[in-house]
Amino acid sequence: MLIGQGYDAHRLASGRPLVLGGVRIPHDQGLIAHSDGDVLIHALCDALLGAAGLGDIGRHFPDSDPALAGIDSRALLRRTLALVQAQGLKPHNADLTVVAQRPKLAPHVDRMREILAADLGLASQRVSIKATTTEGMGFAGRGEGIACYAVVLLSE
Ligand code: MG
Repeated sequence: MLIGQGYDAHRLASGRPLVLGGVRIPHDQGLIAHSDGDVLIHALCDALLGAAGLGDIGRHFPDSDPALAGIDSRALLRRTLALVQAQGLKPHNADLTVVAQRPKLAPHVDRMREILAADLGLASQRVSIKATTTEGMGFAGRGEGIACYAVVLLSE
């Protein structure tokens, strides 16, 4: 068994769509990034790469690559899974914690789990997504950005 953890954070700004866990969420702000800014998927990719000893998402998908501008992060997730599988490894489960003051994410969590599980080839019960605020503390609490922590388990 190989465990991996990942973390990512992006800044919120007006005039951007908010995409988390592959779900477009109605909100007055979205995340600034070279890709679609799906911080949840980016943390998950880093956890997968970490468990496999393959570095980080920036090494495989640099934000200097014009081909990745605005890319759907689900494509990055599927490419990350392919890198992991090429090492003879497969994921067993993922556990994610999204840190956001707003919007309320609970109505979207089940759909996110279905999407991520489909991309990882897992049952949706094997993909856990939890959401928390920080009770107004720090950058997430002030609504400056959204962060996500991820843990995954791989086996050979
Ligand atoms: Mg990112």
